[in-house]
Amino acid sequence: MKAISVLGSTGSIGTQTLQIAKEFPTQFKVVALTAGQNLDLLTEQIKTHQPEIVGLAKEDNISELLDRLNNLSTEEKPNVLPQIVGGTEGLNMAASWDHADLVVTGIVGCAGLLPTLAAIKAGKDIALANKETLIAAGPVVLPELKRSGSRLLPADSEHSAIFQCLQGTPWAENARLSTGIPTPGLRHIQLTASGGAFRDWSSADLKHATVKDATSHPNWSMGRKITVDSATLMNKGLEVIEAHYLFGLDYDHIEIIIHPQSIIHSMIELADSSVLAQMGWPDMKLPILYAMSWPNRIETPWKRLNLSELKQLTFKDPDTEKYPCMGLAYSAGKSGGTMPAVLNAANEQAVALFLNEEISFLSIPKVIEATCEKHKDDLQANPQLEDVIAVDKWARIEVQEIAKKQSNLFSTTI
Ligand code: NAD
Ligand code: MG
Repeated sequence: MKAISVLGSTGSIGTQTLQIAKEFPTQFKVVALTAGQNLDLLTEQIKTHQPEIVGLAKEDNISELLDRLNNLSTEEKPNVLPQIVGGTEGLNMAASWDHADLVVTGIVGCAGLLPTLAAIKAGKDIALANKETLIAAGPVVLPELKRSGSRLLPADSEHSAIFQCLQGTPWAENARLSTGIPTPGLRHIQLTASGGAFRDWSSADLKHATVKDATSHPNWSMGRKITVDSATLMNKGLEVIEAHYLFGLDYDHIEIIIHPQSIIHSMIELADSSVLAQMGWPDMKLPILYAMSWPNRIETPWKRLNLSELKQLTFKDPDTEKYPCMGLAYSAGKSGGTMPAVLNAANEQAVALFLNEEISFLSIPKVIEATCEKHKDDLQANPQLEDVIAVDKWARIEVQEIAKKQSNLFSTTI
């Protein structure tokens, strides 16, 4: 029985993780949950999973959650009420909870950085969904992993695919553990991309893209921020940086390929020119389960893949002009140091402004590019945690300033 903590339990990754825990009660026991604002769902989750500790993003919500739990009927009330904590310290405490073996990181954005670091410092294994943490703070996270011996198990579907393919390379012990050290024999990675919400739109039509359009993903059901990242293809750019830190390949050997069916979740080419791919239906439960059960596999009754049902799998190169975010991510990754943190924070802020209908869809890459450009002279090659936090804060303010100053250029078209 593995004891798990779920950070961001009320989100898309969090709820799917809890479905897995419920489906396989002899394999997993939930000991800690953390969440942002959704107290209704969190209360239900506490009733079902009876965790030992619950962390809330906002300390102000502690008393309301306690009231809700105290007012449950005798039948509904957990046998033992969890300890409820809040704020940064509270989230860190829940993330590093002593009784947990594995921490699933489903917080969205750089807000996941401190709790993930707390879990790593406590020596917990990490099922990493919260890619922004690694992208913004790779140079901080990787040495911490080495110090604590905690292991980063990818839950992002592409990186899980690569990780699964690497299990068959016995000489690549570090590949089995995703430590960011170059993986012997791994020559090339092909990250597959569905193409996002606008894959069948012309570049000209993107001018009129609305929030509703950008948040309707053709293949995957995910949180709003990552769905917009998929529409701009920034998600794939961020995943290139994630792959660089996880598997230690340089950027010239990490490639993006559009695969609209999302059946092949990524491919690796090995030194002998053999190519391995991992396949499955587009269902995040599979990569999450693998990260939770690694190095074992759990028998599931889930829908089996039948290729004749699909008839064909297709591929094409991505359109880098239509989707400038990919190029911005490669460029930030190659610059290294604090630049990926700036790219990530600028993207988070730009997406938030877009979701708030304050800037247009096509403005997202423009504000990110301008922010990264401005950071060039201040780039720090070997950042510490404080440097990452400082540039993250700076970039968010910068995006707002740029959007404000250039309201004509960036005004929404909706
Ligand atoms: P989501 O928006 O559905 O859920 C986010 C969770 O984080 C919620 O529980 C929310 O309450 C919590 N949260 C938000 N802001 C917070 C804050 N400031 N402090 C603490 N908690 C906060 O997001 P999601 O789609 O589940 O994505 C979560 C992460 O997983 C992201 O990093 C995303 O890139 C990654 N990911 C998601 C998917 C997917 O299918 N959803 C696939 C691959 C990777
Ligand atoms: Mg992914």
